Amino acid sequence: EEWKDKGAAVGIRQEVDASGKPVNRVVKKGVKDFNFGRTLGEGSYSTVLAATDRQTLREYAIKVLDKRHIIKEKKVKYVNIEKDTLNRLTDHPGIVRLYYTFQDERSLYFVLDLASGGELLGFLKKMGTFDEECTRFYGAQILDAIGYMHSRGVIHRDLKPENVLLDSQMHVKITDFGTAKILDIKRPNGSGAVAGDPMDGADTDRAVSFVGTAEYVSPELLTDKNACKASDLWAFGCIIYQLLAGRPPFKAGNEYLTFQKIVALEYSYPDGFPEVARDLVDRLLVLDPAKRLPIEHIKNHQFFDGISWGPGLSLNSWAAP
Ligand code: ATP
Repeated sequence: EEWKDKGAAVGIRQEVDASGKPVNRVVKKGVKDFNFGRTLGEGSYSTVLAATDRQTLREYAIKVLDKRHIIKEKKVKYVNIEKDTLNRLTDHPGIVRLYYTFQDERSLYFVLDLASGGELLGFLKKMGTFDEECTRFYGAQILDAIGYMHSRGVIHRDLKPENVLLDSQMHVKITDFGTAKILDIKRPNGSGAVAGDPMDGADTDRAVSFVGTAEYVSPELLTDKNACKASDLWAFGCIIYQLLAGRPPFKAGNEYLTFQKIVALEYSYPDGFPEVARDLVDRLLVLDPAKRLPIEHIKNHQFFDGISWGPGLSLNSWAAP
């Protein structure tokens, strides 16, 4: 069996035992526990459906993957990466949570948080551009989620507005961890890289193939075939730019020309681009990943003045502008 079952997500249900004492029971769910509804979207190897848990009536998004298609296209590895990373990232409101996985003869099923607001890209296209306040609102949530995944040893490697989903409250849920990289965080204390080192997790495997999306790919991936935590911050800089400008900073007629612009750091700002945001983006779109602004400094940048970082950031303390 190709599909790893270790670390499978299972649900915990609170029940009361015979003496009235609350107990946690581990429950395994399967296809028959859900009512399947409308199609939310289609990927190359998957269909995502809205579904309701028959028992709790809670709504989820269920990603259904066709086993034969995945095997034929040699994507088993990526499906396992997606599952393994999501199982590491179950504790942050800014990341799509994986609740259960199960399978039948034909398909694999991932039961996920429902992001009913769709993709941030779709919302941006509707708006054209975001103002500074709106960019700060979404930017802060994206950054907080990146900080969480990095702290759990995960580099996303394909951050872009299509992979930032929105829930019913218009709060962000980052998705698409199929090309993520899991770092070895079992390193003994005091050895190895310094905490917060932006090169932490730099890939030693030089033969890594291109992952990501042309417009958001970092220069180090193009020149050294190396992605590190700071590569996600390059993509974050591209996203902040795009929210304010309505288009990504590096865009050309084809991928090759886009790559040329990236390695030459060839980008410019449209008129009216806010000065403070420009300063932040300039400190993120830096060719040397070691010189890119680290997360803690980004949080303290003037652009994010007024944000109270920490638990609750994307939970209840503020509403979407
Ligand atoms: P590809 O595999 O081709 O790169 P993809 O990564 O977008 O495509 P999926 O992750 O299967 O593929 O997503 C398919 C569509 O379903 C996307 O358009 C996405 O917006 C939507 N979708 C994915 N996850 C959710 C979710 N948790 N809630 C709501 N919609 C979702």
